[in-house]
Amino acid sequence: MRNSTAVDDHQNLASKTYLSKAIDVFSEHDLDQLLIHCRRNNAATSVTGALLYHNGYFMQLIEGPLGAINSTYNRIQADSRHEVLSILFEDQISARFFPDWTMGYRAEDDMPSGSLNTIYETARTSTTRFPINDFLLMFGDSN
Ligand code: FAD
Repeated sequence: MRNSTAVDDHQNLASKTYLSKAIDVFSEHDLDQLLIHCRRNNAATSVTGALLYHNGYFMQLIEGPLGAINSTYNRIQADSRHEVLSILFEDQISARFFPDWTMGYRAEDDMPSGSLNTIYETARTSTTRFPINDFLLMFGDSN
């Protein structure tokens, strides 16, 4: 699911990745509605990124101008549909990882577990070193 967006990157770029737990099961319809809403909001604020939903947990990377990332994350964190468990990574970045996606999405149960483990292990020791290749691996060619 690729969503092109025109982005203006002549600004300070920041990236934030968090892990959260859904309060209730998200149906396909719930996820579709969530993505429509995210993509509309993100396109309006030059936010891009990617969302994983797996076994009732979300992992989401958002990136964009620092102010937009902070306000988007504040809204996400206040959302009663999930409980944010931890920020895995946050840092300033020089270029976007997902410049073409207002919100890429993956909900398969066949995500490479080695990559998920690498992300969790890295996050345990640092919130500024992001194993982007492992995150990208989880999106394969389907997005
Ligand atoms: P409003 O115009 O008030 O829109 C609120 C809308 O959000 C409602 O119409 C409804 O569609 C939905 N909504 C909010 N809370 C609930 C609820 N408890 N039950 C059902 N529907 C609800 N927003 C982004 O802008 N960008 C993101 O990348 C993003 N990622 C998200 C990832 C996850 C896992 C979750 C759970 C939410 C995410 N959101 C994201 C949504 C965010 O939490 C806010 O709900 C949204 O940004 C508010 O949008 P708004 O300012 O347009 O508010």
